[in-house]
Amino acid sequence: MAQAADPKCPDCMGSGYRVVDARRDVSVVCHCMRTDVVASRLGPWLSKAERILITPLEGRHKENLLLLARPKTANAHLRKVLEGLPGLTFHDITDADILDAFLGKSDLVEVVTEADREHGSLADLVRPPDLLILRASIVSYPNKALPGVFLQALRLREHAGKPTWLVFSPGQPFSQDHLCWSEAGDAYVDDLFALVSLEKDVPTPTKGSAAKRAPGAPGGPLGVNPVLMGGGAPPRKGGGKP
Ligand SMILES: [Zn+2]
Repeated sequence: MAQAADPKCPDCMGSGYRVVDARRDVSVVCHCMRTDVVASRLGPWLSKAERILITPLEGRHKENLLLLARPKTANAHLRKVLEGLPGLTFHDITDADILDAFLGKSDLVEVVTEADREHGSLADLVRPPDLLILRASIVSYPNKALPGVFLQALRLREHAGKPTWLVFSPGQPFSQDHLCWSEAGDAYVDDLFALVSLEKDVPTPTKGSAAKRAPGAPGGPLGVNPVLMGGGAPPRKGGGKP
């Protein structure tokens, strides 16, 4: 099925073909020529996200990343990087999805006792894709199981030898106040995930658990040196939302 190229496509400048090897004059059909295919793969959110030219996520799809981004920013970066990886399978899910999978979706109390089945359904959800994108932003009421389910999802991925991208909003980072947070989860993420801020106004903090506190918080054990900026500013009152 013939398609017209997107005249505003930044990757082919509207020609429909991208040069992949200039020396040998090799070009490939640009993703914008396959809009139907791309849209059905990316889904309604990502396929309509803002177009951006570059993303720090390029080339990092085999790594575990903890992304700090508001939903709109995350979508733009995810669109950019996933369009460039047509062969990669991915699953874009939320903390509510993993909790539902764990709880077996219905009669909570009865299903919770069938440990094997629960774990099976969580594994079925998180294990298959090449890349799991887990947005920890939906669950809004405390759930005792959630921090454990969150950690288990990450461990299932690790066990399968596959990468995960966690997406947290800068206003709701992975710190003690987050409903997915646990000490074990914090240590796990600190160990295995690289932190990347996609927001221009939120610089990527230094690695370490302190780094995942709200921007402007004082440094922790491995965290930012508070002296660096001229003398340990006191923690700001309130949420400190940008
Ligand atoms: Zn194009």
